[in-house]
Amino acid sequence: MEIITETLTTPVKGHYDVIVVGCGPAGCGMAIACGRAGLKTLVIEKANCPGGAWTTGFMNPFFDGVGKAGLVGELIGELQDRGQWGGFWNISFHYEHMKHILEQKLTQSGVEVLYNTHFSRTLTEGNRITGIVAENIEGRFAAYGKYIADCTGDGNVAADAGCAFELGEEGDWKECQAMTLMFLVGNIPEKYRDGLMIFEKLDAAYRAAGAEIPFKVPYLIPVPNSHFGVVQFTHMYEYNPLSAEELTKATMEGRQQMIDAFTYLTKYDGEFRDLELIASSGVLGVRESRRIIGEYTVSLEDILNGTQFEDAVAYVTFGADLHTKSNKGQKCFGVKPYTIPMRSLIPKGYDGLVVAGRCISGSREAMASYRVTGNCCQMGENAGYIIAEAIRQGIDVRDVRMQFTLKK
Ligand SMILES: Cc1cc2nc3c(=O)[nH]c(=O)nc-3n(C[C@H](O)[C@H](O)[C@H](O)COP(=O)(O)OP(=O)(O)OC[C@H]3O[C@@H](n4cnc5c(N)ncnc54)[C@H](O)[C@@H]3O)c2cc1C
Repeated sequence: MEIITETLTTPVKGHYDVIVVGCGPAGCGMAIACGRAGLKTLVIEKANCPGGAWTTGFMNPFFDGVGKAGLVGELIGELQDRGQWGGFWNISFHYEHMKHILEQKLTQSGVEVLYNTHFSRTLTEGNRITGIVAENIEGRFAAYGKYIADCTGDGNVAADAGCAFELGEEGDWKECQAMTLMFLVGNIPEKYRDGLMIFEKLDAAYRAAGAEIPFKVPYLIPVPNSHFGVVQFTHMYEYNPLSAEELTKATMEGRQQMIDAFTYLTKYDGEFRDLELIASSGVLGVRESRRIIGEYTVSLEDILNGTQFEDAVAYVTFGADLHTKSNKGQKCFGVKPYTIPMRSLIPKGYDGLVVAGRCISGSREAMASYRVTGNCCQMGENAGYIIAEAIRQGIDVRDVRMQFTLKK
């Protein structure tokens, strides 16, 4: 590859206690906790709202949230107070209210938020991550932080710093779970307003069209207090989640699958004749990419045996859910409720960096369980409090001992 070497002048925006990269469920938990703990906190987000998959991803329902203490419990409570909670499996929510509640909480906790801002690289001193370089409408800027939190879902910050990671099955990205482009539909027939699995409907429509269905377990999930719902159906297999070109191709295939599904359903199923296509999500749903190697790796045995760790930051009950290409469906199995240890959020051999969300250290099967949003948010939140305590005591996050109330 041809390489150019640039000499750039980069203004330093500021010095922070914590810089959070990515404001999805994990990043919101992290940033709000750091702000509440009194830390000078910056969160950067490439989209124009908080929430990640919760909002830009048109994701629903909110898994492994009910019964959790802390921010997750607060979010559900406020969605309930607004009448924006319920619907599908009684755990679905309205995207715009989720954005608004998260924005209020970020602001109230004193966090500095920058949207439309893209992380580009880390600043390091040896194995310590000292800051980031990011870009937005104003150009490039640098910012220093006592701690950097990688909440990008993909482990972008940790990977740039050189942290080791796992991908797919022993490095084979083709084994990564399928990607999905979610899409919204309106004018859902009255009798389906509570939500349904539309496999039989779509399967029959695909057969009538002489086409092959890409995913066997599609859901239509109505959004509370609205006339629309989200369809979890498109499935793109064998795309490299770390290649911009492949992500673009997967997005285009998703859009084609969406148009096909909508066309076949409205044409061949009388009940869905008047269904409206509203929008595809602004971001491709990537279920699986980097798993950063941490001080501890959550294993298949841990989730089957229900391991309870002393340094627990999240309590997980959600079963493993792998969207595999082999059966064009889901491979699911239950887990014994287990906890996530803080050590799995600390990249091995690196200082000044914490990861939270789906990119923490775990086996593929474990990730398929803890990746759902209630767990990502809870681990981000409690890791934020651990960072605050480390800064207060002037010690490393590895040496902080804190116990959290994880369940209500
Ligand atoms: C198709 C699909 C369906 C799912 N269904 C469900 C479900 O029904 N229920 C459930 O609870 N979970 C579901 N999940 C799982 C869940 O959505 C994710 O695992 C979870 O959102 C991960 O949280 P996170 O905070 O780690 O990452 P994300 O939600 O991906 O958030 C990461 C944030 O970082 C930002 N970011 C990334 N890179 C950069 C950068 N370079 N610079 C700045 N910002 C950046 C992103 O814009 C994003 O806002 C689903 C996932 C997918 C893909």
